[in-house]
Amino acid sequence: MVALGLPESRGASAGQFKSVTLSGTAYIDAANFGVSFGLKSQLSNSGRKLTLKSVWSTLVFETDNRECEINGLRVFLGDPVRSYKGTVRISRLDVEKVLIPLLLAGNDEKRIPTLKTIVLDPGHGGRDPGNVNQRLKINEKTIALDTALRLERILKTMGYAVVMTRSNDSQLNSDKAADLLSRAAVANKAGADLFISLHYNAVGSGAQRVTGVEVYTLTPHSQYSTSDSERDDDTGAVEINPGNISDHWNMQLGYQIHRLMIEELRAPDRGLKRARWAVLRAVECPAILIEAGFLSNDTEGGKIATPTYRQKIAEAIANGVQAYGNVLAGVHKQRDGK
Ligand SMILES: [Zn+2]
Repeated sequence: MVALGLPESRGASAGQFKSVTLSGTAYIDAANFGVSFGLKSQLSNSGRKLTLKSVWSTLVFETDNRECEINGLRVFLGDPVRSYKGTVRISRLDVEKVLIPLLLAGNDEKRIPTLKTIVLDPGHGGRDPGNVNQRLKINEKTIALDTALRLERILKTMGYAVVMTRSNDSQLNSDKAADLLSRAAVANKAGADLFISLHYNAVGSGAQRVTGVEVYTLTPHSQYSTSDSERDDDTGAVEINPGNISDHWNMQLGYQIHRLMIEELRAPDRGLKRARWAVLRAVECPAILIEAGFLSNDTEGGKIATPTYRQKIAEAIANGVQAYGNVLAGVHKQRDGK
């Protein structure tokens, strides 16, 4: 297990830090935050870059940028980091939704999940092929299913109960929106502890060079999705998506799986991102959506077309699940010891 923070900081909350309001958003002094987590801060690049460092963790922030680096991984925040009177500022929501879940898993969460039943969701199926590479004659629905079946076998060997949203070439509903909701419903009905939706990526012909792994968690309420330049659909909405109940654990889960995939596959890191994918919105347990590589790139697509590489992908995801399980076990142990 990777210790990311200091146990003595337990009980920390984003609310304990003074904030300033910048463009309508509450921002916290990143260096101050760092001190309370035993992280030393160092400014460079004329005050535009801030590094927070302990023996366990290195976090790098850049002003006017939503992308940051956490232990060498690309992680996307909801709000850009800002500079304010010579200090570097991180939004209060990003402290609460990204940094605290990663540095102090469990922190002041009332409920610590268990990890027994895992629902795997191979994307697309039936009349919906997903992304297709005509040159390589591969499509997303087939390889997502194959990868998920490999992952199912590994997870069962590890002792988990696994439920598949589909285990053959079929859709759950011919209507796309209903199909996605049905997938989430499988997890909710199974009382799942974890939901993984598995996909393969593609970009249009002009950008064939793009390769690598992306892992998505559900965008927290009233924050930006990674691909948006404005706050999207739920600003001011009273209703919170069921998936947002798990914001804290979604981040920890996404981080562990993204970390293991980047480490083991040695694939380019496209980042731990946020989006309001329909399946993630409706799921009532910690959930992520994985884009395990780009079919549109012939080199990466060619690798994905081989069973050997798909097995590696399945193993990396399983190890990520195990790492997340270890974090949960650690928190349970700590609570029981009190
Ligand atoms: Zn897909």
